Amino acid sequence: MKKFEYMEKHGYEQLVFFHDKTTGLRGITCIHNTTLGPALGGTRLWDYENEDDATLDVLRLARGMTYKAAAAGLNLGGGKTVLIGKADEVKSEAYFRGLGRYVQSLNGRYITAEDVNTSTKDMGFVNMETDHVVGLPGKSGNPSPATATGTFHGIRASLVEKFGSDDMSERTFAVQGAGQTGDFLIGYLLDAGAKKVYFTEINEKHIKKIKEKYPSVEFVDPDDIYGLDVDVYAPCALGAVINDKTIKQLKASIVAGTANNVLEEEDKHGQKLFDAGILYAPDFVINAGGLINVYHETKGYNEEAAYRDIERIYDRITDIYKISKDNNTHTQEAAKIFAKQRIETINQMRANYIKR
Ligand code: NAD
Repeated sequence: MKKFEYMEKHGYEQLVFFHDKTTGLRGITCIHNTTLGPALGGTRLWDYENEDDATLDVLRLARGMTYKAAAAGLNLGGGKTVLIGKADEVKSEAYFRGLGRYVQSLNGRYITAEDVNTSTKDMGFVNMETDHVVGLPGKSGNPSPATATGTFHGIRASLVEKFGSDDMSERTFAVQGAGQTGDFLIGYLLDAGAKKVYFTEINEKHIKKIKEKYPSVEFVDPDDIYGLDVDVYAPCALGAVINDKTIKQLKASIVAGTANNVLEEEDKHGQKLFDAGILYAPDFVINAGGLINVYHETKGYNEEAAYRDIERIYDRITDIYKISKDNNTHTQEAAKIFAKQRIETINQMRANYIKR
């Protein structure tokens, strides 16, 4: 892999490889952009096939974090760490303290957190060696209610955009996936008086839980979720669910959920939704509640302040819809324009000399 070429093309700042002989720790930290602040992004532990796969993954994920943080209005840049290994074999106190020491060596340019195969407990070990870690036990806690709260407000903004009102009693919803975030989202929609909520799931335990918890919610088979005649389709399970096959089935006028990487191909399927008049709430903007929540740990965590910020996803989504209309471009592209503009403006604003 031509790393420098790739870094230059996409504006990366730093790519750090690290290894610890005692614990077998092998990892890569990528810092994409720190214009707005320290690069924040979780540590993913994965049994990658080879080093190039791991490198490409950390590069892509770090860049995604830059846009996510910028669009969320946070003073954070984008970064990520990947660790190469089998989760059930490598994890230990020493392993994560080893990671903590490498995070510390970046001197605050990068802040880590939990991600796939790493937990708040692991971050507790990281914290023994560095302060540059969030998502710690006893602080901002489970990100899922925060993510679902932000998504709920993004759905409100989308309803206002499409129907001129966020009155849920007029609206119907199809939620795909009732895991951590889907469960909370269903609850928030019902609390807000949603006319009708359908859901789908593949996990029997989750199906049973939702049916017991919310008796008015109706289960549909996984393949039937796309074609339901509802106002909002909320993907809260997998990525790539908007693709050539599913777009044809969609009857919803809004796609807005918690899932990551909803569009199979960003440009192609973002444009197809736009052309079909289906309003798409960009995934990395609407699902930023968890990131906003954990960011507040860097300022001394205050739940009320964090949730006030999460509610602002409503305004972000509204701004992005305006950019989409003004530029006649699909909303995923509009979200990137919004994020890049914020980075560029803050960069230029700081160009004058101020003595501190
Ligand atoms: P989760 O694993 O708790 O829930 C996902 C649910 O989807 C599971 O119950 C699973 O059984 C179900 N599912 C899987 N395939 C399905 C299918 N084909 N049809 C129907 N249901 C299916 O995950 P989560 O934490 O709720 O996250 C959901 C999505 O949101 C993921 O894409 C995740 O990356 C994204 N996300 C989550 C957070 C967070 O705070 N948890 C933050 C940002 C983004």
